[in-house]
Amino acid sequence: MNKTKILALVLVLALAVCAFAACGGNDQNAANQGGATSKGAASDTLIMGTEASFPPFEYIDDNAQVAGFDIELSNMIADAAGKKLQVENMDFGGLVAALQSGKIDFVAAGMTVTDEKKKNVDFSEPYFTSRQVIVVPADSAIASKDDLLGKIVAVQEGTTGEEMVREFKETDNGEPMDNTASFKNNADVAMEVINGRADAFVLDEEPAKAIVAQNEGKLKILDVEFGNENYAVAVKKGNTELLNIINGVIADIKANGTYDEMIAEYFPDRAEVGAEDAADVTDEADVPGTPADGEAADGTEAE
Ligand code: GLN
Repeated sequence: MNKTKILALVLVLALAVCAFAACGGNDQNAANQGGATSKGAASDTLIMGTEASFPPFEYIDDNAQVAGFDIELSNMIADAAGKKLQVENMDFGGLVAALQSGKIDFVAAGMTVTDEKKKNVDFSEPYFTSRQVIVVPADSAIASKDDLLGKIVAVQEGTTGEEMVREFKETDNGEPMDNTASFKNNADVAMEVINGRADAFVLDEEPAKAIVAQNEGKLKILDVEFGNENYAVAVKKGNTELLNIINGVIADIKANGTYDEMIAEYFPDRAEVGAEDAADVTDEADVPGTPADGEAADGTEAE
């Protein structure tokens, strides 16, 4: 009967629902206003997004948990933020959108800093230097980038490796090379080559070395020089509070020896010449343990 009262009640209920749901969908700046996390100041959880087919940065361990270098780093970030870490394993190609929508608070996925990505996310200081490599079956005759002409190259969707293969289109002899097969995870990328459905795959060096080692005798890494890339942690654009915490952690672990220990644990051949080089932004050539000099990288030549 009393319309005003009913209206007021509806309004109160709507507000209550809104408060419980944090009304994240309507507030583009929720992450910034509510503190470092996407769920507002009340949340005690920091959500990290990754794609766990990228060993040893992220992989599924024997206990079916996502583990690896990036997860260790993320735990330190959560500790510094005074929050619990929650890891969301998702498609690499969906990570940026998940950040933007507030579904996750940060990305630790061996994500390469690119000008294109910088338009959509904010990156921390770099924490690792890598590069792309070409992986082929152990008995393949493919020995160079140009040998890929007319061949099928498998890549992971949304990665710099995929971008690079697309750029291969015009090879040195000027012929088009539109031969990319894209997959959501690197296990499928490698399987495609192992099962002979693709001739090669292009992937970041360390995960490629790990995958080649896991498939002993089946694959080899080509000695082809590509430019260096830097991995950094990504946050939603404008989330400077969380970005400062992340940069603080990266600076601290580099200063206190923890970073060196992590490099020694996950990348023993890099640690030999000092962890500095593993994340040296300006180091263009001297990344140690490259397939060029690493027997372990292919280890199959005799066969
Ligand atoms: N470093 C590559 C990129 O950022 C691949 C990362 C990945 O597959 N996890 O695109």
